[in-house]
Amino acid sequence: MAKDERKTVVVVGAGALGLSSALTLLKALPSSKYRILLVASYFSADGPDPSFPSTAAGAHYRPIPATTPQLKFEARLANTTCNRFRNLAAEHPEYGIKFLEGREYVSGEAAPAYQALLPEYRQLDGFRVLNDDEKPTDVEFAARYETYTLDPDTYLFHLLRRYRLDGGEVKRAELKSLQEAFELEGHDVAIVVNCSGMGFGDPQVFIIRGGSPPSSGILGLIADRFSGQTCLVANLCDKTITQQDADGGWSFVIPRPLGGGTIVGGTKQPNDWNSLPEASIRNNLLEKAAKLYPAMLNAEGKFDVIRDIVGRRPAREGGLRLEAETLPSSTSSKRTVVHAYGAGGRGYELSWGIAEEVLRMVTDILPQSLLSRL
Ligand SMILES: Cc1cc2nc3c(=O)[nH]c(=O)nc-3n(C[C@H](O)[C@H](O)[C@H](O)COP(=O)(O)OP(=O)(O)OC[C@H]3O[C@@H](n4cnc5c(N)ncnc54)[C@H](O)[C@@H]3O)c2cc1C
Repeated sequence: MAKDERKTVVVVGAGALGLSSALTLLKALPSSKYRILLVASYFSADGPDPSFPSTAAGAHYRPIPATTPQLKFEARLANTTCNRFRNLAAEHPEYGIKFLEGREYVSGEAAPAYQALLPEYRQLDGFRVLNDDEKPTDVEFAARYETYTLDPDTYLFHLLRRYRLDGGEVKRAELKSLQEAFELEGHDVAIVVNCSGMGFGDPQVFIIRGGSPPSSGILGLIADRFSGQTCLVANLCDKTITQQDADGGWSFVIPRPLGGGTIVGGTKQPNDWNSLPEASIRNNLLEKAAKLYPAMLNAEGKFDVIRDIVGRRPAREGGLRLEAETLPSSTSSKRTVVHAYGAGGRGYELSWGIAEEVLRMVTDILPQSLLSRL
């Protein structure tokens, strides 16, 4: 058999970021010049694992007031992703993406931030501040808008299937370093994209599991994104609701499409590596959700619990790392890595925006002569 002369673009990671980046590269780069190889230690078919958060997510999209340059940038990525999900929902029903009503109930310190940022929220489809008679009495700010939810198992399975049907290559391996990705046997590697979730020994990365969420500051605004322990119940729900209480507590419900039940959450605890669910946390989550949306309860006024879910969000001081880096190399060829990791609790809702940034960086770096489809 003739030797494959094409260069390889390696994407490390088969989570939300790796799969969307790999698919985007596969569609954009000329297949006559480049192979795309996805290398990962975990795939979604392996089942839930706390260290593979893509299998543990809710997952819904909940805009955050863009109070910093980083959050403004992320808002743009989220917007790109939302548009992409809208197209995918229409063109690929098998991905199980559902557009539905989202509700935001906010009290306490965070409420003024939501009030002040109403102009940004008004861009969301179906955005409307709720009248007093439409919201719970103890809630200060309440709004509704159109958003989406997805079931990670279904979604990741079909992304990987699409990637493979379109000619993407896959390898299961645990890499000790990014240098190893340049030395894979049988591949002439042009560039490596690092979608490994937590990076490779990045000291700025930390994980967040279950516990008490922060009540103020930026972390307060986005605390539900760190929620580490959730509970999947069979009870169905027609909207996704997030509530921030005046005492700093959080609760949310996220319906999973295609009859996949509902996620009830959630909690946050930085640097907690406990991978076992705690019964007291589950009871607390269910109690709060029963108050948040009693219409979900079964005829006996209860939840039908399917399972607890524990996950660790790959958070990073300073936020998501999205940049290129040249690694030291003893050979004549340059070793450039495009990093895309540390999405914390926003990996799904930023994923397609991140994938477009990855593509932009990769095409800036690869020789222009090899990007033509001719
Ligand atoms: C309880 C919970 C609820 C959440 N809810 C939401 C939500 O509603 N909306 C939302 O947008 N996000 C949510 N998230 C966050 C979201 O799940 C993450 O941001 C996202 O999954 C991160 O994806 P990733 O692809 O960056 O990394 P990961 O999912 O961590 O995937 C990393 C991949 O890299 C591979 N890898 C890592 N190291 C190596 C190595 N050395 N060698 C080879 N392969 C390697 C792994 O095997 C894996 O395939 C939630 C998370 C949790 C835990």
